[in-house]
Amino acid sequence: MSVWRSPARSATAVALLSVLMACSSSRAGRPGGDPLRPIAMPSTLADVPLGPTPAHVGPLDARVSEEDLDALWQRQLMVPVEGIPRGSLRDNYTAKRAGGIHGAIDILAPRYTAVVAADDLVIGRLFSGPVGGIVVYAYDPAQRFVYYYAHLERYRQGLTVGDRVAKGSVIGYVGTTGNAPPDTPHLHFQVMKRAVGRAWWDGPAINPFSFFALDALRP
Ligand SMILES: [Zn+2]
Repeated sequence: MSVWRSPARSATAVALLSVLMACSSSRAGRPGGDPLRPIAMPSTLADVPLGPTPAHVGPLDARVSEEDLDALWQRQLMVPVEGIPRGSLRDNYTAKRAGGIHGAIDILAPRYTAVVAADDLVIGRLFSGPVGGIVVYAYDPAQRFVYYYAHLERYRQGLTVGDRVAKGSVIGYVGTTGNAPPDTPHLHFQVMKRAVGRAWWDGPAINPFSFFALDALRP
């Protein structure tokens, strides 16, 4: 697999889309001018060439294939904490934990910072326990990937299993519930391939660090 070293191509793709969308709106507002030749416009981000799939970081479970990684890249994940640019993330996926590795990344942010959907999501499971605290398990519309959000301070009001949530929409708020240090609010964010033959939320983890294509900056 080719090694993907720079987010420049995806950033270019997003910038390109912004420019094209701006062109689209200015065309729409043009009163009574010459008829414009229709041009191909991207209807969604998925229509914009994305470049090669980024290389994964750290160990990869044998149950995760190259096709899975390509599919994850196509999802164009958004950093799931508002105001956190991709460039400021730290990869602690392989940090040692009791019984193995961390298998997720921690995104530090002030308590009550908005936690947003990294992908278009279906909320699959809401749970509270001593380790993850207040957590969300969600999956993408194709049910290929599972996204796990832990240590939330609370959910967005009214969040319910079965909700469909658009990428970038708020689902909860950063906190320290579960076993998070009380003075270190953060989001523990994990991506998994959906499990088959056992609980759907218990599949092999994939390091999301290289897969964020979009920032979730403050509006
Ligand atoms: Zn963590």
